[in-house]
Amino acid sequence: MNEKISIGVSTCLLGEEVRYDGGHKFNPWIVNVLGKIAELIPACPEHECGMSIPRGPMRLEGTPDNTRLIVIDSGMDLTAKLNKWVGFKIKKLKKENLDGYIFKTKSPSCGLKEVELFGKNGKVRRNGKGLFARAFVENFSFIPVVDERQLENPAIREKFIDSVYVMKHYRKMMNGKKTYNKLVTFHRDHEILILSNNAVKLKEMNILLSEGSAADPEKLYSHYFKKLISLFF
Ligand code: SF4
Repeated sequence: MNEKISIGVSTCLLGEEVRYDGGHKFNPWIVNVLGKIAELIPACPEHECGMSIPRGPMRLEGTPDNTRLIVIDSGMDLTAKLNKWVGFKIKKLKKENLDGYIFKTKSPSCGLKEVELFGKNGKVRRNGKGLFARAFVENFSFIPVVDERQLENPAIREKFIDSVYVMKHYRKMMNGKKTYNKLVTFHRDHEILILSNNAVKLKEMNILLSEGSAADPEKLYSHYFKKLISLFF
């Protein structure tokens, strides 16, 4: 697994001073370790959509189904401004070959989960999702994502890298005709990695393939993919 991978990263994690307070959140592991095997592709939704540095702190308000991006001091609603950039960015990313994404935690734009969401009467719930992170996950269900806090755990770091390579190879295999033999070859090539993540799942996948030679390839691939993705997500 020595081919170069492409990983999207929240820009502030790379040490760029793009945060609302003019600072950064440099993450040494991402830059110094992951940077050796991956091309790191930065994106800062707030700065790239035209907001200044520094800028007023923002927060998410509303409900999970109707989330607004609000400047805390002025009450200004910047949802439309940010979402316009998000729409443009998602379209652009669909033409690129990203293999994974690392998001900044807690951010109303980049937070993957548990971002503070202020409801009516100022009630705070930790069930918000940053506007860009949410759109990314909805549009790229085949691409592994993680946040910088999860990466503090070495086991999660390893799992993330494994998932990036496996999903990259799976997407590549999906080009062209789906055949039984192609899927078996993919499985054999990744058997050890699957075993190291989940021995029970490997057994299930072995049974699926051993009984699947006469199955409809569409159905077989679909069942196999569900098991594969459940290893990592
Ligand atoms: S968390 Fe996201 S929006 Fe905020 S500074 Fe970092 S990259 Fe930019």
